[in-house]
Amino acid sequence: MSLPRYRCNCGGVLDAEVSSSSQQLDNTPDAATGSASWQRLFDERASRLATWPSRRGNALLDASGVWRYRELVLPLPERFVVSRPEGNTGLYPVGTANCGSDRPGHRQIGLYAGLEDFFLKHEGENPTGSFKDRGMTVGITMANLLGAKAVACASTGNTSASLASYAAQAGMRSIVFLPAGSVAPGKLAQSLAYGATTIQVRGDFDDAMRLVEQVCDELSIYLLNSLNPFRIEGQKAIAFELLQQLDWDAPDWLVLPAGNLGNTSAIGKALQQAYRLSLIGRIPRIASIQAAGANPFYRSFMSSFASREVVEPHTVASAIKIGNPVSYARARHVIEMSDGVVEEVSDEEILAAKGVIDRAGIGCEPASAATLAGVHKLVARGIIKGNDRVVGVLTGNLLKDSVTGIAQEIGSVVVEPHIDAVRAVLS
Ligand SMILES: *Cc1c(COP(=O)(O)O)cnc(C)c1O
Repeated sequence: MSLPRYRCNCGGVLDAEVSSSSQQLDNTPDAATGSASWQRLFDERASRLATWPSRRGNALLDASGVWRYRELVLPLPERFVVSRPEGNTGLYPVGTANCGSDRPGHRQIGLYAGLEDFFLKHEGENPTGSFKDRGMTVGITMANLLGAKAVACASTGNTSASLASYAAQAGMRSIVFLPAGSVAPGKLAQSLAYGATTIQVRGDFDDAMRLVEQVCDELSIYLLNSLNPFRIEGQKAIAFELLQQLDWDAPDWLVLPAGNLGNTSAIGKALQQAYRLSLIGRIPRIASIQAAGANPFYRSFMSSFASREVVEPHTVASAIKIGNPVSYARARHVIEMSDGVVEEVSDEEILAAKGVIDRAGIGCEPASAATLAGVHKLVARGIIKGNDRVVGVLTGNLLKDSVTGIAQEIGSVVVEPHIDAVRAVLS
């Protein structure tokens, strides 16, 4: 394999663009045929989801919540693609007005947020339990095209779980670098179970990141961190899919947790693309939420991006415990382009929001709850209005981190195996 490059000469990250001539696969619409035919195409593909394993000819691609949008992601024939398929995650109406009377539990989330028209997109419903699968299917597909035998990443846990799973499917070796002691047990277990060579670095994520870049250069291993532009292309599909679920009626706000800022970058890019194709009539405002102890992007935002900040990160939300975000420049552009905001929330606010999501029966990992904590704060500050239509992204599954915040939430009792003991507890 010849050595691919991941960075620009200036040191910045690269961006993938699909040229308009290669956008026309099969019988797909061109720009001139307009938004209705794109919508029809994506809807037709989605309708074949249930029966894909028994079909031929792009059935897997159509069933994937990433490759369904392949003209806007990476136009490739099915034989090159490594897919589970992923995506097709739930979009839950949880606002006080849009939540049906059959879901009083979910309505508690709308009450907490202070929003009438509120949805949660649960990316924890992806195959390995986080949105990272959307980027990884495209990243591993690219590694496959390049003939890579081994792939690697540094990770706060979810990227490594996803990498290990997709590499195993594709028959590649995977090597993951994790910050020792800072990875939730569920994520570490996934990497090990899927067979990744798992290296815990005595340091934080940013140290692991520096090491993996050096190792990949030295040993010609394909690097699949979020500085890899093809992962960003796959993550754009979170936005395409939720817009499709809203029948292409764009919300006022899109809110998500922010660590390395790959997701902020990807979603912003997708919204711009959807707007250019007239799939949506306006671009939602984006709110990126950081943990107060890992808030370099928030600090830059507060200085109107006068300077790029780096911090030593501390937070219970390990998936966003990042002090020097890789996709800073892309994400800055997204916040500016969408008239967006960056907010910070304390660990206490994150755990309180997690309790609300968990007890509604939906559940998520701590970093994901930053979304609801941020919404709660932005509504209280009057930046998001109570009648705005808002979509929040939950990035990871409850089971990823089954420890943090759980003891405070519920507590658990152990009883003797007699009905009297149970009666005493329930009375
Ligand atoms: C990776 C991750 C994030 C942060 O996303 P970035 O693209 O790094 O900003 C948030 N939540 C979860 C669960 C994650 O796995």
